[in-house]
Amino acid sequence: MSPTYIPSTPISTSLSGGSVASDRTTLPKPTHPSDNSSDNSEETSLAAEAIASSPDEQNSREAWSIEQSEELYRIKGWGEPYFSINAAGNITVSPQGDRGGSLDLYQLVEGLKQRDFQLPILIRFSEILEDRLERLNACFAKAIARYSYEGVYQGVFPVKCNQQRHIVEDLARFGKPYQFGLEAGTKPELMIAMASLDTPGSLIICNGYKDDAYLETAMLGQRLGQKIIIVLEQVEEVDVAIALSQRLGIQPVLGVRAKLAAKGSGRWGESAGDRAKFGLSIPEIITVVEKLEAANMLPCLQLLHFHIGSQVSAISVIKDALREACQIYVELVKLGAPMGYLDVGGGLGVDYDGSKTSSQGSKNYSIQNYANDVVAEVKDACSAQAIPMPTLVSESGRAIASHQSVLIFDILGTSEATSYETPKPYVEGEHRLIRELWDLYTSLSPENYQEAFNDAVQFKKEAAGLFNFSYLRLTERARVERLYWACCAKIVALLRNEDYIPEELEHLEKSLASIYYANMSLFQSALDSWAIEQLFPLLPIHRLTEEPTQRATLADLTCDSDGKIARFIGPKGTKDVLELHPLKANEPYYLGMFLVGAYQETLGNLHNLFGNTNTVHICLASKARSHQGYTIEHVVRGNTTDEVLAQVQYDPEQMIEQIRLRSELALQNGQITIEEARKLMANYKAGMTCYTYLAES
Ligand SMILES: *Cc1c(COP(=O)(O)O)cnc(C)c1O
Repeated sequence: MSPTYIPSTPISTSLSGGSVASDRTTLPKPTHPSDNSSDNSEETSLAAEAIASSPDEQNSREAWSIEQSEELYRIKGWGEPYFSINAAGNITVSPQGDRGGSLDLYQLVEGLKQRDFQLPILIRFSEILEDRLERLNACFAKAIARYSYEGVYQGVFPVKCNQQRHIVEDLARFGKPYQFGLEAGTKPELMIAMASLDTPGSLIICNGYKDDAYLETAMLGQRLGQKIIIVLEQVEEVDVAIALSQRLGIQPVLGVRAKLAAKGSGRWGESAGDRAKFGLSIPEIITVVEKLEAANMLPCLQLLHFHIGSQVSAISVIKDALREACQIYVELVKLGAPMGYLDVGGGLGVDYDGSKTSSQGSKNYSIQNYANDVVAEVKDACSAQAIPMPTLVSESGRAIASHQSVLIFDILGTSEATSYETPKPYVEGEHRLIRELWDLYTSLSPENYQEAFNDAVQFKKEAAGLFNFSYLRLTERARVERLYWACCAKIVALLRNEDYIPEELEHLEKSLASIYYANMSLFQSALDSWAIEQLFPLLPIHRLTEEPTQRATLADLTCDSDGKIARFIGPKGTKDVLELHPLKANEPYYLGMFLVGAYQETLGNLHNLFGNTNTVHICLASKARSHQGYTIEHVVRGNTTDEVLAQVQYDPEQMIEQIRLRSELALQNGQITIEEARKLMANYKAGMTCYTYLAES
């Protein structure tokens, strides 16, 4: 056992006996939608209670339970109902929650490696995607029934959230029973939507900046029988649309995107409000109505759209926006537009940190709350004015796509910031500072650690000063520093028992943390972790019956000092270090980064020339009944080096030729042997067709 970290404090664990609630649990009594607490069906009560600690430190590793791991990494908070831990201490994936089967993620990864897939691998679970889509539709169906809403819900998936063909095609297929459609924000996305969607009556919503070709394609697409709605975001677009319509003889279906006064919130709060990048102000909406009327095209205006930003963490923000949008909708009907669709945009949040709060990485409402609020708010506004209730549209991307993919990578090695070995005792005759620090070390207790820490800092400083004037030998200074870090490690262990941590000790744990080197690139696989410090759940996918005794931060493969993760999801909010297991010789250590299915893939870039990762689509498919319990539906091979080089305009063939010519020259000059030249050429050539990440040695 590691002599360094005194096994940590007893961790409180969930003893809730777990009625594992989900979005689609039975509906409680009809209450007003504002009553979120009563219907927060994603809520899982986490009645925490401390487990009795084992007085015997030796035993504490065996005493570690999967419940403790669950609590430590907050798996229930962000992972339910898809991710949990099995008795073997491995993460299991249940793509349909408790309605279907599950599989052992660790064994899946081992199986993939046996098939020669190298890590990192992005694993997509098609059935999770299907389940998310079903959940969203079920929640709206439930809300519509509950409030006797006289209209339907017809959602669309915003393609920008994940444009990968397999995802979009799956969604088009899974969405058929719900007439689920697609939203495009650009011309290429419209082209994807038109090619992928073949469900009669499903919507294709066209947002974003539009040139003539975008508008013309959208209008002509209508002739294919597709229900394409062009949402006007700029006043100029209405003139182009009118002209095109007259030229083509096609009556388009038009919508307007409103710039709401209601404030957005959080990271993307600026998507709403007067200064928003997109949308029409109230005067502009009136201008559009007048122009359409003048062109006899007011009957084309059928949809009102708003979007208040992504990952809206507070339900109150959504409700404010809804209220305003509903009034605009009602007024547009009164102005003579037929309307018929109200599109509430995206923003439906994902509980990345599992806290179920309105903090940025979380949300204080369930999908059911959201659906209830949308339905009830629109119903109230329309019935008050005796206006027919519109078809409800939402453009939920994140909430549908996040859960389905998990990035698995291995740890290549670790570096301990300092040596935590139990220091050798002071021996008579050693330097005074060594004796002082040894005494400090041996007398550390819960009563004196704060004072002791200040003393230790002082002694270390003094040693550096004496060293500069050659009053202290290098070996003596090493002794002092080792003792200093040993004191710190002991203090950190004591701190884990404390609720209150003195300010000057807050960063101690972090400064003692090891660095775990991860075989992945944040810039390719989780850009938002770097760009906006988004937290993604991160934890080992095996060994969860063992106490994770190390405290670590993560560094990725790039040579960029920003390529690191030093903020993690903890049982009580966020933390600076992640609990991990010490590496075992000849045994890989796998971490999973969860909820990475939205936005990360296309945002990812080639920083340091790490390319796309290997990607597999896994289906549990009980129908397939394969004895391993899953089938690999699709494989998308990650980039090889030559592919990545070609993307930055190199010609791999030419590069190989360059090296060959140089080898020849070196041979002639007697700088290299023929054997060395052969090896170099072989390596260089093989390197071209390799995966860009590190191979397991
Ligand atoms: C990005 C975007 C969405 C998707 O938002 P999510 O928060 O991922 O649901 C929807 N509509 C528009 C207009 C967008 O720009």
